[in-house]
Parts: sequence; structure tokens; C-alpha cells
Amino acid sequence: MSSRVLLVHYHEIGLKGHNRGDFERRLVQNLRAALNGLPVLHVDRISGHILVRFDESASSDDIQKTFEVVQATPGVARVSNATCCQMSLEDVNRAALDELLHSGDFETFKVAARKSNTTFEYGSLGLNRLVGEYLCENLPTKRVLMRDPDRTVVVYAIQGFVYVYVQSELGVGGLPVGSASKVISLLSSGIDSPVASWRMMRRGAVVVGLHFSGRPQTSDASEWLVQDIIDKLSPTAGFGRLYVVPFGDFQRKIASLVPDDLRILMYRRMMFAFACKLAYYENAKALVTGESLGQVASQTLENILAVDEMSTLPVLRPLIGNDKREIMQEARNLGTLELSTENAPDCCTLFMPRTPETHAKLDEIHRVWNLFDHDTMLEEMWDTLEYRSYNCPNYKAPRFARDTHECLSKL
Ligand code: ATP
Ligand code: MG
Repeated sequence: MSSRVLLVHYHEIGLKGHNRGDFERRLVQNLRAALNGLPVLHVDRISGHILVRFDESASSDDIQKTFEVVQATPGVARVSNATCCQMSLEDVNRAALDELLHSGDFETFKVAARKSNTTFEYGSLGLNRLVGEYLCENLPTKRVLMRDPDRTVVVYAIQGFVYVYVQSELGVGGLPVGSASKVISLLSSGIDSPVASWRMMRRGAVVVGLHFSGRPQTSDASEWLVQDIIDKLSPTAGFGRLYVVPFGDFQRKIASLVPDDLRILMYRRMMFAFACKLAYYENAKALVTGESLGQVASQTLENILAVDEMSTLPVLRPLIGNDKREIMQEARNLGTLELSTENAPDCCTLFMPRTPETHAKLDEIHRVWNLFDHDTMLEEMWDTLEYRSYNCPNYKAPRFARDTHECLSKL
């Protein structure tokens, strides 16, 4: 009896020596969480691969959807849509013919056999020849071509079974979420920060989003957009939580107390100070922003310095050397661009000066910072914090939040 499976390949994980088991376990956990709701029976480790088995009810649409989710999961280098057969040449031949016949139009093909940790009696060369002969007999109008054929039928014997496939595509690569600790990502509903969050997630970080909304001075539209963005970015279960601070009234107060040209820097210093406080409770190891050098007034090196001094943690800026065009292309590929270009006022659009300072002097920054009671304000902001939890198996919730109620009513 043969069955339909997805064979998941990874490579970076394989390089991690004695940590390998841990990395594989995380990937299995993440895949199980990501595939929740799809008709999948098991996600299990086999020698050097992960196998996704389907429920009998799975349709070809379900299988394609599952394929796409697996492909988008950090740590997955490649996914193959395979027939899993017994170690019998007859079964393998039949599966190979079937896979080819269901692969659309083609003229040329070849067979590529491999073996790993198996007792299958045939060697790779023997399988190439035997399966190739069978296919030639049954497909008299098709030609074998060793270099750049239209189709390659892979026959892969692993442990007690043989996997036969034609459809095989690259995954997003990277490392399984959870293998690289936790980060607090300052997430607006703009184009850049979702891309920055995704990049950190792809490198194995559990991402905790922190959004400053303009509420109550603006509507809560940006909060909904950020949630839509997370849903787009994280069918693969990389977001632990989203925290929201209604920042509008605080901004209004700051704006009334500090010179116009330094407002943005003061808002941003508050954001960073708050993010560090949150990181302390969340046990996160770094902050992440979507800044790109020189893109807007607040992103000059002088201003980055003036804001960075508020952070006791490393501030990761995965987009710092990217052009806007490149970031937009990545956002388009991730499916977040459309959401990010929707018009939703967040705190960034509130109380903006006409000419923001681009080359802040630290002495002046420090003088202005002391014009308002930032410590009390940070405490007050903390009291207004709201959050929403996501399905992320490698996320550990902080103590403070377990003891208090989840503020889903507003989010
Ligand atoms: P983005 O496209 O990510 O909104 P941007 O081009 O609008 O970035 P800025 O407004 O200078 O640039 O913001 C720089 C970074 O600061 C953002 O990428 C994000 O990490 C953080 N940030 C900005 N606004 C917010 C917000 N309302 N809530 C949380 N983080 C924010
Ligand atoms: Mg923005």
C-alpha cells in the first residue's frame, strides 16, 4: 500500500552537530502548530528528514495548501510531494509512472535514485536503470535526458520505505523558530517592520510584537492592521504575542512639553525604553526595528545614536542596508505590502513637527529628555498595556502576564 506524504528536507539544522536533535524537535513542533486545522495525521522525524502524513480525507487542494505552509516554515530547505511505497521494485515503478503522469506536460525525464539508512536490496545505480527502463517501456513517446530534463523522478529509499516524487520545491530556509531565543519587535503597520520581524523569525527567533497605537487620539485601525499583518507573516507560528500601547495621550503630553524638532526623538526614546522594560519581563534578548539608514529623518546615524542609548539590549536592524525598493519587494512576497500600504493612522502620524531634527546633539537631547517626567509616564504606559497571544509552541509567557487577565476585550 502506498500513501501520499510530504518529505521535508532541511540542511542548516543538519549542520548543528549535537544540537541537531533539539533543532529537529523544534521544527516538528512548529510544523504541527502551523498545520493545525489541515487534514494532517502525523508530523514525525525519520532519518534526516521530517515526514508529513495526511488524513484519508485530504483533498489535492488540502495537500497543496499544506505544501505551501510547510514551504514557508523557517528551517525548511525543501519540500517534496511524494508517494511513500513499500520496499518493492514493483511499487516503486508504479509510483514513478504515476508521479510523472500527474506532473503536467513534458517531453524529457530522468530518474535520480538515492539511499539513506536503508536495507533496500537495490543500489542507486541499479534503481536508476531499472525504474528508468520501466518508465521508457510505459512512456514510449518520452525521452530520457540526463542534463536538464523537463522532469526528474526522485526515488529515495529511507529506512523501511521508498519515497517517489517529481514535485519538489525550495522552502524559505533559515532555522526553526525557537532555536534563537526571543526578541521584541517594534511593529508598526508600515512596510518595513513586518519585513524585519520576518527576517528575525526566519533566523529562529520567537518574535514578540510591540505596537504603539495613536489611540485614543486616533482610531484603533492600525492595531487591526498589525494583527492582520501578523496573521499573514505567521501561519508558521513564529509570533508569540502582540502587545499594544495606546500611545496617543502620552504623545500629546510630550508634544506640549518639548521643542517641535525633537518630538519624534522623544517619542522614539520612550518607545525604546518601554520595549526594554517589556523585554525584561519577557526575557527577550534583543529589540528589532525596521529602520534602514537615512530612509527618513529619524534614521540618520546621529538620531539612531540618540535613541539607542535608551536600550540596554542589542538593537537589531535587519534592514539597515536595504533600499526601500528591495524591502517593498520582500513585503510583496510575504503578502504584507498590501496591508502595510492601507491608510491607518498610528502614533507615527500624530503630532508630527514640520521640520524634525536630523542630526541631534546628545547634550540637547538629554536636556529635553528631562523636560518631562518620563519615568512616571513609562509606568502609566505599562498600566495601559494590552496583548493578544498567538499559537507559538516555543513561546514562553512571562510571569506577570500569566497572573493577570489577557486583555483580549480590546484587541
Ligand atoms: P515602518 O515601515 O516599519 O513603519 P518607517 O519607514 O515608517 O518604518 P519610522 O517611522 O522611522 O520608519 O520607524 C522606524 C521603526 O520604528 C519601524 O520600522 C518600527 O520598528 C518602529 N516603529 C515606528 N512606529 C512604530 C509604532 N507605531 N509601533 C511600534 N514600532 C514602531
Ligand atoms: Mg512607519
